[in-house]
Amino acid sequence: MTYAYDPQNIFARILRGEIPNRTVLETDHTLAFHDINPAAPVHVLVIPKGAYVSFDHFAAKASADEIVDFHRACAQVCEMVGVAPGDGFRAITNSGKSGMQEVPHYHLHILGGKVLGPLIAR
Ligand code: AMP
Repeated sequence: MTYAYDPQNIFARILRGEIPNRTVLETDHTLAFHDINPAAPVHVLVIPKGAYVSFDHFAAKASADEIVDFHRACAQVCEMVGVAPGDGFRAITNSGKSGMQEVPHYHLHILGGKVLGPLIAR
């Protein structure tokens, strides 16, 4: 399976320092920053620094170091923003057209700070 990565996507530009971001955490392989248009009181995006289009791309092709670093960073972010341990959160990733992914660089949304409602509209 091949994945076409667009190096001009907005998160690639954030990673290159071309666009500012409100960083929550930076590690060797991962960056976490506040969503510019928050959908909840807590809305942080966690992205790998590597050029991965989507969750499935990252899961299939990232190194073990990258995968561990990413998930440890997610856990650290949840603690830093006070959702876990705590009242909890929702982690969402959109992939491709059906998932309505807007930015083609893998990102996990961490949402919390209120009761979030049902998973999806039916
Ligand atoms: P998705 O629809 O899953 O691809 O989500 C993309 C997310 O990126 C949306 O929640 C946007 O609000 C967010 N976003 C877009 N541009 C920026 C930016 N420059 N800084 C932070 N978040 C952004």
